[in-house]
Amino acid sequence: TLRVVKCGGSSTVEEIKTQEEIGVKNPMAHPHSLDQELLEQLVYDALVWSSLRGLVVGDRSVQRSGTVPGVGMVHAPFTLLPLSFPESHYRQACELAPIFNELVDRVSLDGNFLQDSLSRTKKVDPFTSRLLEIHSKMLEIDKKEEIRLGLHRSDYMLDEQTNMLLQIELNTISSSFPGLSSLVSELHRSLLDQYRERLKLDSEKIPRNSAVSCFAEALAKAWTQYDNPRAVVLIVVQSEERNMYDQHWLCTLLKERYPFCHAYKLIYIRIQQYRKVFISKQCKSVSLEKHFFNVFRCFPQLINTHNVTVVRKTLTEIDAQGELLPDGTLIVGGKEVAIVYFRAGYSPTDYPSELEWGARLLMEQSSAIKCPSISYHLAGTKKIQQELAKPNVLERFLENEEDIAKVRRCFAGLWSLDDVEVVKDVISRPELYVMKPQREGGGNNIYGDDVRKTLQRLQSEGTEEDAAFILMQRIFPTITPTILMRDGIFYKEDAVSELGIYGAYLRNKEKVLVNDQCGYLMRTKVSSSNEGGVAAGFAVLDSIYLD
Ligand code: ADP
Ligand code: MG
Ligand code: MG
Repeated sequence: TLRVVKCGGSSTVEEIKTQEEIGVKNPMAHPHSLDQELLEQLVYDALVWSSLRGLVVGDRSVQRSGTVPGVGMVHAPFTLLPLSFPESHYRQACELAPIFNELVDRVSLDGNFLQDSLSRTKKVDPFTSRLLEIHSKMLEIDKKEEIRLGLHRSDYMLDEQTNMLLQIELNTISSSFPGLSSLVSELHRSLLDQYRERLKLDSEKIPRNSAVSCFAEALAKAWTQYDNPRAVVLIVVQSEERNMYDQHWLCTLLKERYPFCHAYKLIYIRIQQYRKVFISKQCKSVSLEKHFFNVFRCFPQLINTHNVTVVRKTLTEIDAQGELLPDGTLIVGGKEVAIVYFRAGYSPTDYPSELEWGARLLMEQSSAIKCPSISYHLAGTKKIQQELAKPNVLERFLENEEDIAKVRRCFAGLWSLDDVEVVKDVISRPELYVMKPQREGGGNNIYGDDVRKTLQRLQSEGTEEDAAFILMQRIFPTITPTILMRDGIFYKEDAVSELGIYGAYLRNKEKVLVNDQCGYLMRTKVSSSNEGGVAAGFAVLDSIYLD
């Protein structure tokens, strides 16, 4: 279809595209108008790919699927195609990762800041209070964590009206989906390659997602710093975990050992070194490097070989099997523990009795590396996020003014509930705010009219219970059409998305050994849903297509 358009003084002829034409040309922008036959082929191939490549979770309808691997698996929920995302905002989020890593480390060292900021919350929130109790004990004995390992994920939404990338939260404990998010990027790349002719999309525009190998690498480096080849990595898990395959991907990379791969890895590192020389001499075509790159892409285990022993235990098991030697060594089930990596322990339900709290304290007292330590854990609470957003607080922890400005630019409005003016506004326009308790794992926030009701209840009760929450500006991302896959069925929905950027941080005393951005997690949820957790059943895994 052609039409004449006025452009400045001159007229040009422009093609107007019908919906169908656009649908064919840009299937990501208009996935709902994908040709039915193509859609069915994509759906089928995506399901086969995810089953064969381990993009799976435990199936809720099978009772043992949360405890026995290999029983009752279903593909993880995902979007059929990646989401178009502006490259500039993606880069901005990536740049923030090392700054947030450093910020968490600095905040974690200021025990008084953590205790003071959370002192009111402590009175009314029993869970946070227990965490603070352990933290106080560590302050009393002047416990030093010389080797500090952080595996974080900072989550953002792109606010439509202001076009600003705003932080939702920073996770310092149990940052989930490094394994499955890496796979979703691969799935989308593979579909785009396979249907290149018909989709007309370039798979190279989906950034490579190295979240799982980066996390494995950081864990392995930390394990090396601990410096006992017989010591193990202890993964603290829930007794039932339907997201176990995400964790197993990481464990597998840590554990696996392949013959010759060490030599292969060394050759690759050499080639990378030479490449710098080649480039500086304007020498093109380093085909050998390309060869290795492709080999590593097909067989990631070649470069991800760490040969570290991993054991999985619940807090209850750790209580029963754990002991602390007089020199601080942590022994669990007869094995010395180098690293305690928490994929549980972030929620009150992980501590059904005093035994589990005992296990947490025991581990904290030990000389094992904790990922996270109690102070890293507390640094990731919503209350601390809100305190850091107050004027002049970032300046206490960061020196570089540019870094401070970058961090501040991604802060949304955050307030405590003792801010009278804000509370008044919230009561009159609750839909513009989110109320958050100090909880993790999704499904805990309060939205819409419930915010007003809760605030009014708290006001009438006149207790200090308000200190359990913070208030946050509600972010409204652009609503885009998408195709979600769940239980083998596709759904055409309007959705919003949240971008998480993983960060790994490792230091030994004064030496920072790792401070990297490592891969991403895109989560997409039906636009009418408030919450965003994949494991909690609200969102699906996605990847990004940079434009
Ligand atoms: P959790 O630690 O439980 O994941 P979050 O702060 O990430 O807590 O909130 C859970 C979900 O709620 C997010 O994934 C997001 O979908 C939604 N959410 C949180 N904060 C906001 C906000 N300020 N604006 C809009 N949605 C939000
Ligand atoms: Mg969280
Ligand atoms: Mg979250």
